[in-house]
Amino acid sequence: MRAPTALLSLAVAATLLVPTGSALAEPTPPPGVTTRDFGNGPERNEEAAGVADPAAATLRALAGDTTPAAAAERLKHFPFFRDFKDKERGYPRQTRLPVPAENPADASIKLGLTPYHAIAGKLNALQARSNRVSVEVIARSHQGRDLYLVTVTAPESKQQAREQDAIRDRIENDSAKAAKDRKLPGRYKAPVFVNNNIHGNEWEGTDAALRVIEELALSDDKKIADLLNRTRLYFNVTANPDGRFGNTRANGAGFDMNRDFITASQPEVQAMRQVMIDTQPVAMIDLHGYVNGTLIEPTTPPHGANYEYDLFIKNTYANGLAMEQAVLGLGYTPEKDGVNPPTIPFRDDAEGWDDWPPIFTPQYAPFQGAVASHTIEFPMRVNNADYNNLPVEELRRRSAINTDIAAAVMRATYTFVQDRHDQLIADQIEMFRRGAAGEASKQVPLGIVPGFGPEDVYNTTFPRAYVIPAGDRQRSATAAARLVDHLIANDVRVERAKRAFTVDGTRYAEGSYVVDMHQPKRGIANVMLEPGADITPRVDSMYDISGWSHALLWGATVDSVSALRADTKTVDGADLDGSVPWTTRPLSLRVTDGREIQALNELIGQGVQVTWAENGTAVIPASARRQAEGLARKYGVTFGVADQAAGAKLGQVRVAAAVSADELFTLRELGFQVTPVSTAVLNAGFDWSTTDVLLVSSGLNYAQLNAGARAALDAYLTTGGLVTRGSTGATFNGAAGLLTVTPVAGRSDANGVVKVTSPGGPVGGDAPANSFVYSPRWFTGLGPEVRVEQAYATDGPLVSGHWRPNANGSGGQDAARGQAAVVSGRDERGAAVVMFGTEPMFRNHPKGLFAQVAKAVYWSSSAADVK
Ligand SMILES: [Zn+2]
Repeated sequence: MRAPTALLSLAVAATLLVPTGSALAEPTPPPGVTTRDFGNGPERNEEAAGVADPAAATLRALAGDTTPAAAAERLKHFPFFRDFKDKERGYPRQTRLPVPAENPADASIKLGLTPYHAIAGKLNALQARSNRVSVEVIARSHQGRDLYLVTVTAPESKQQAREQDAIRDRIENDSAKAAKDRKLPGRYKAPVFVNNNIHGNEWEGTDAALRVIEELALSDDKKIADLLNRTRLYFNVTANPDGRFGNTRANGAGFDMNRDFITASQPEVQAMRQVMIDTQPVAMIDLHGYVNGTLIEPTTPPHGANYEYDLFIKNTYANGLAMEQAVLGLGYTPEKDGVNPPTIPFRDDAEGWDDWPPIFTPQYAPFQGAVASHTIEFPMRVNNADYNNLPVEELRRRSAINTDIAAAVMRATYTFVQDRHDQLIADQIEMFRRGAAGEASKQVPLGIVPGFGPEDVYNTTFPRAYVIPAGDRQRSATAAARLVDHLIANDVRVERAKRAFTVDGTRYAEGSYVVDMHQPKRGIANVMLEPGADITPRVDSMYDISGWSHALLWGATVDSVSALRADTKTVDGADLDGSVPWTTRPLSLRVTDGREIQALNELIGQGVQVTWAENGTAVIPASARRQAEGLARKYGVTFGVADQAAGAKLGQVRVAAAVSADELFTLRELGFQVTPVSTAVLNAGFDWSTTDVLLVSSGLNYAQLNAGARAALDAYLTTGGLVTRGSTGATFNGAAGLLTVTPVAGRSDANGVVKVTSPGGPVGGDAPANSFVYSPRWFTGLGPEVRVEQAYATDGPLVSGHWRPNANGSGGQDAARGQAAVVSGRDERGAAVVMFGTEPMFRNHPKGLFAQVAKAVYWSSSAADVK
């Protein structure tokens, strides 16, 4: 029923299909960035007046720790999260924000917009003028800038705030009764979340938010007074202050945060996630640029199968239409202003702008209660080349239009919530009720909104429960703990078996974790724990990734079960006790998860003489028992008794890395010492004497090296290690004349979870049965020196995701079947080389694959010693 169109695809290709995580540019901090000295800054809030920020030291200590426990600890330091459920506080909850030093290098200034340093002062002034405005700091960005959450609502006594808290809790946790309480919606202030500027160089949501907050704060309109009596409006003023300042899409760590929601690797994303969990918005909007005409969701198919899509689409489409009218009402025209009328992908396009992966803010929000959520793309491009090339006056004209449009959709959204107040709350209750009752995935009636056809119907099957086993059935206790903590951080209820139980004929040990799928937020649990679906047959064009699975890619064993009879108790975190066995023999540490890699790197850093066995296990001398005990406590890792002391000596591994930002982040998170390199860095002269392993996946082209750089690199490659990934890595291997392989590229947009077989070897041995690909590659024509570490399965190989062949028939799954996905070998000159055709560090997501990377690094660095 929908008109097929190329318009959207063009817009997507031109503006938004910016490189995926691994193709991000190298992370160079924007010019002019200075690190703030937290300890000497102004006081953080009124309670701490006159006291140096007590959180600073803790936050600095947590900076490199991205475990959920660390994230939770970090959030405790921010007043919003600390006080949100404070029974003794009403509204407003005002905070005197520290005002950063003025910085004329802020990229917003050229556009006539509000620079980052000016936001805090404006918000302080608004708090002083209005008791409707509360502002709190919810996070610090990668580079140390504050994120401000503004709550706009009518003042509440502490009793009133307590009542709101109680109702919100009933909606989530006592939904069946809440659904029958007819007075409930009338007593509840509907929460609305407006998220701005998550892409740092899509600026104007922030400026529109400041405008709308001021209007609401100072208005004497009765309708606004009514609105603020019946809603709480939460504005994340800028989700990405690093990028706003520095004119980058990504944050300071080089991450596209609007791809990070199922992983939450970045502190800014962890904070947004927590805002959504704590406030439980019925509606949210996420402000972006630039698509002309203004793009307003809902989306094309495929639609996420874990949403209560009937509740979602009717509200999201209705607010989409309302926002469209609001934008049209501004009176901008193509002729006069160059502003085209809005487009709604669901209505106007066939495919290419989908809500399949929950990596985007508006595609995550429904799992925390939103029954209407939207991406909005304002129309007038001011970033990238236009930022540099257009006259300042034209840029400012465009930014002013974008700001008007962003403000219009914010007003439309709060008006929509005001008008549909009780129904939106009832729909949120219904969503949680279906989850708690364990009802089957609902078939959405065709025509529920105009144009909703068979192509829009996506469903899933919820198992009765998932079990994350303890004991021998668990592949990795550390990975299991990581997964459990991640589920809990997403507000999934996890229980632990008090005694052993049997289900579906399998006996599970005491201490096994159970995720009962009869729970209000079963959607987010299932979207992480189900294998996903192969949607290759249903659509040709996807906007971003199509496959993910925490159950298949995070390294832990996860079973889905059809019945649930277990004596359990709910837990608030994984209980992971590391241990060191009583023995006088050497100790072993099996590397399955990032925690073991961190522990091993720290052990090596302490100067302990570790050896590395090719089965992927480190052997630690008995004399280092005390250090091992310390690391067992710190990382929760379990040492074993070594059955072999043999292997190569493993010294501290110093990595030179020409890699993408997400890979650099991951390598450092794992505790490797990494020096970023590139063609330019090597051409300028590079001292290879302190490098043990070179990683190449991005930004290093052997053919473009000058003679001196090439000679130095060639000399290094007679003894050093090399790990490559993807096209750049395979090209590098060929140009440097190392392993004898023919790299073959799959279709470039193919991605998802694949089935693999691992015949053994220093990298593939002990690897999980699934891997992740994006632009998959494989290797044929293997020389005698090349060993297959991992191969694509002969069935599939795609488990979930999207992978079609190219138009000429090449690059498809059939071509990949049985082919080598990861290979290793020693070049005749001496270099120990590992080549990945998979994506083991993609956006920091597939945590169960990080061990393969670490094994590749350890093996290639130590292989020289056993020549
Ligand atoms: Zn964007």
